[in-house]
Amino acid sequence: MSRIIQLEDSITVGALAEQLDIPVTKLIGELMKNGVLATVNERIDFDTAVIIVGELELDVELEQKKEEVDYTREARRTKSNQGDPRPPVVAVMGHVDHGKTSLLDAICGSKVTSGEAGGITQHISAYQANHKDRVITFLDTPGHAAFAAIREHGAHLTDVVIIVVAADDGIMPQTVEAIRFAKQAGVKIVVAVNKIDKEGADSNRIKQQLSEQDLLIEEWGGDIVVVEVSAKTGKNIEQLLDMVLLVADVEDLRADAVGPGQGLIIEAHMEQGRGPVAVALIEAGVVKRGDFVVAGGTYAKIRNLESTNGQSVSKAGPSTPVMMTGFKNLPEFGDDFLIVANEKEARIQAGAMAASREKSGHNQDLSSSDLIRIINRKNEVNELNIVIKADVKGSLTSVIDSLRALDTDEVAVRIVGSGIGNITEKDVHLASTSGAVIYGFTTQVAGSVKQIANRDRVPIRLFSVIYELIDDVRGELQKLLPPEVIRTDLGRLLVKGVFKTTKTEVICGGEVTKGKLVAPALATVMRDDEPIAEVEVTGLKRGPQEAKEVLEGEMCGVSLKTEAKLDIKENDRLEFYKVETKERTL
Ligand code: GDP
Repeated sequence: MSRIIQLEDSITVGALAEQLDIPVTKLIGELMKNGVLATVNERIDFDTAVIIVGELELDVELEQKKEEVDYTREARRTKSNQGDPRPPVVAVMGHVDHGKTSLLDAICGSKVTSGEAGGITQHISAYQANHKDRVITFLDTPGHAAFAAIREHGAHLTDVVIIVVAADDGIMPQTVEAIRFAKQAGVKIVVAVNKIDKEGADSNRIKQQLSEQDLLIEEWGGDIVVVEVSAKTGKNIEQLLDMVLLVADVEDLRADAVGPGQGLIIEAHMEQGRGPVAVALIEAGVVKRGDFVVAGGTYAKIRNLESTNGQSVSKAGPSTPVMMTGFKNLPEFGDDFLIVANEKEARIQAGAMAASREKSGHNQDLSSSDLIRIINRKNEVNELNIVIKADVKGSLTSVIDSLRALDTDEVAVRIVGSGIGNITEKDVHLASTSGAVIYGFTTQVAGSVKQIANRDRVPIRLFSVIYELIDDVRGELQKLLPPEVIRTDLGRLLVKGVFKTTKTEVICGGEVTKGKLVAPALATVMRDDEPIAEVEVTGLKRGPQEAKEVLEGEMCGVSLKTEAKLDIKENDRLEFYKVETKERTL
């Protein structure tokens, strides 16, 4: 029986050759014979592909994909104007320690905070809360340093952002960042002024600060809802949820509750005894246990389907976060997922996605030519090479995105390798050949690997709190920054006579017209207000006596060291200064 390959309306020559399992040159040759000049990256249409494949006499049948499911975000949003009402998806954001986790905890009743290292939420995950017979889905956003990752992957998921501001602390940099994120993503904002129970809580000040961020609150004629809450005492949590629903209802959120489920993978990790486990947020349609699901370059027949509190469910609909098992490989945080009809389709789609990823450079492993380039550039001080390993894909993506955000014009992080799991000998080898530091995030390293790293002088740094890792990398980058040069002006000398001029030395005398002269120091020689040379001041004399300093109005002699012969003249001015270098910070 001939093999069936499903194709879209068009396909690149390279991808088709791959699907047909023939060398790309053979395909290009066949196309040429048929009068089609196409390079490996050019697309040919389905009909051309059928003709060429016929000519090649391969045991293959091409089939055009019938109903192309448009699962772009735009399509989902448009579609969702019809369909059934769905729960709002809410993200809680704000400055570290302002109480995001405590608030989620108070709302969802789960002990979210207890399992965390350093009180920072590490993985994007999701929870659901019931309020007045309705459901609200909460996205638990990663630690504050990972906003970039959320922005890229999760913005479209969110309908409402709760911005948490501690009443005793006010708006801080990450609050501003969260506000900017919400505005950019075009989502509704509800402000929770938290810790209202604390002494020093001043919600009026915060309202003022909000207006400075162009968020005008309802009380003052704007449209931003502010609720004063305490995650600790539970005060006004109900009102906060009322407001979230109210704000969400303005949007009339809907999604198709029938048809194949689709959405986004928001977490993926390996679990002992269960293999790859993915947490997915369904955006439209239905997901059922036993369905075939494609995500990124892999697929699953869904073996277990669970709600995020661990209860087994047989099916789930829009705005619901679910855990799924049965994947062949780990999908990635940020991957779209889609339910397909059968295993064959799942395999084809996953294969096609994996192939297109490889081509688009999604794979972060570097080629050997990349490596050689890195090794040759090792002495360039402005790049910090790192190898990064993390326990789950979500964390890895968040860490990498946060690290990329550290790059400036002068220094940059270069990720020479990355992956999921423990730190291995291979990682050490890679780090050693590229002069890299290995960073591990909630991951481990075996004793034997540690020994090799010690021997090869490869630093391994393990972290379980995202911002500590980022801070450490920032510290390393700072060391690569050229220092700041600070010039401090000391005083001026008006030259009244020159006593000696050699190739490398000038001795002259004059009057201090401003400030105080000291030696040793540096000086700029000025003639007619133009600088003509930079010199080193090696000594000062008041009369015959050596002096450490000479004050304004006094006469003195100075010894200067010069680079080349310098003819200093009467009425030249020496501007004394000293320089200090200061380490810069990022
Ligand atoms: P996150 O970093 O934003 O997730 O903040 P957390 O939820 O971890 O809270 C930081 C600290 O503030 C913890 O010590 C909490 O116990 C405390 N906290 C959170 N909410 C409140 C509140 O409403 N009142 C008081 N007094 N403390 C709170």
